[in-house]
Amino acid sequence: MKKIAVVGAGAAGLMAAAEAAKNGADVTVFEKNERPARKLMITGKGRCNVTNIADNQTFLNNVVTNSKFMYSAISEFSCKDTFEYFENLGVELKVERGGRVFPNTDKAVTIVDALVKNAKQHNVKIIKKQVTDISKDLVINKTEKFDGIIICTGGESYSLTGSTGDGYKFARQLGHTVTDISPALVPLESDDSFCSELSGLSLKNVVFSVYEKSTVTNNVNAENNGNKKSDKKQKTKPVFSELGEMLFCHFGISGPLVLSASCNLNFNKKEYYGKIDLKPGLNEEQLEKRILRDFENNINKEIHNIIGLLVPYKLGLFVLKQADINKNQKINEFTKEMRKSLTFALKHFKINLKGFRPIEEAIITKGGVNVKEINPKTFESKLVKGIYFAGEVLDVNAYTGGYNLQIAFSSGYIAGRSSAKE
Ligand SMILES: Cc1cc2nc3c(=O)[nH]c(=O)nc-3n(C[C@H](O)[C@H](O)[C@H](O)COP(=O)(O)OP(=O)(O)OC[C@H]3O[C@@H](n4cnc5c(N)ncnc54)[C@H](O)[C@@H]3O)c2cc1C
Repeated sequence: MKKIAVVGAGAAGLMAAAEAAKNGADVTVFEKNERPARKLMITGKGRCNVTNIADNQTFLNNVVTNSKFMYSAISEFSCKDTFEYFENLGVELKVERGGRVFPNTDKAVTIVDALVKNAKQHNVKIIKKQVTDISKDLVINKTEKFDGIIICTGGESYSLTGSTGDGYKFARQLGHTVTDISPALVPLESDDSFCSELSGLSLKNVVFSVYEKSTVTNNVNAENNGNKKSDKKQKTKPVFSELGEMLFCHFGISGPLVLSASCNLNFNKKEYYGKIDLKPGLNEEQLEKRILRDFENNINKEIHNIIGLLVPYKLGLFVLKQADINKNQKINEFTKEMRKSLTFALKHFKINLKGFRPIEEAIITKGGVNVKEINPKTFESKLVKGIYFAGEVLDVNAYTGGYNLQIAFSSGYIAGRSSAKE
């Protein structure tokens, strides 16, 4: 009987352990916390968005980093398989907006209990012990030798749950490379003071786009000054652009659109600014006509009296600022240029982006064990035989919608089975 160790009793670890045991292995899970799956308990705001009803292609489209690497895994254990897996464990599930799957109980603990019970039913031993060392000859903490070790230590975000990035240290010790770690699915900070003034205001049906600022040499300045001087110029193609919801906070911006945008940004290497199209349903010409209609009906008022017809009043005052229009500007004295300027500001409300919120507040960690060094069909290390990686410790991450847990389940399922068989 093969002796398999699983390091970390999270989503990937509990799945891997049960599958290894089902396939005939003697399995021990090492978990540093008193209770397993602390992060799972807080997923989906305590309700656990356990997977999605997406087909394989949709799943892959939602994997932001290294989606190709997940191709075999999702073909082997799909979102549908996860759905059936939990139903077979006696968990009733329901489907919500965007194909998101939740337990009927609306409680993440239902999912945790099912995973733990399943593992125990297959004689998996879950012991409370922090793993501090993993050697190439498959010895844990310099004491216990195994035939295979599956590293499922998660990422680095919400570290109070136990995911403190230990897996990256183990990977490096075993000769693996770990790509740059950064927060993802995380709010963004801005130094624009209007964010805190608008804190709590949420916007629905807006298009949020993020652009890269690029540093280009300003030749005129360079010639005039006799030395190279750089100037910030903005690129025109957005790195992210989507329709949806977002929200202003005291530090900047958050909400679904912003979390998704964060997956596509790298503040270590680049600078960004954002634009909000507050009226995506209308093009500039249509919007100008709409404004004209509002003006005709309110010809003797001042612009601040009617800006609330177009956007929330408080936000409207900042739109006017960006359009360089005095809030007391009389409608009957509005020039064509002013109207154009207002239209432009409503379609291109600008916000400077300073960086991510700390990794502590990130839903997932971007970066991790380099997938080029992992066999995508077995999740075994290509460098050390008998070592496997599954879940968030790998350099794979996805948008919200249940896709990150699906990554953990697909990779855990395969790593568990292959470790027992090979
Ligand atoms: C607030 C929040 C909400 C989320 N909501 C969702 C959601 O609804 N749907 C979704 O798909 N994804 C969600 N996610 C992401 C999802 O939780 C993770 O992607 C997923 O839990 C990763 O699973 P994992 O098993 O790889 O790691 P984890 O679940 O982080 O588990 C790792 C385990 O390893 C243990 N461990 C670490 N180091 C050691 C060590 N040295 N020795 C022993 N044990 C160790 C940890 O204590 C932990 O129990 C959410 C994340 C957060 C933070």
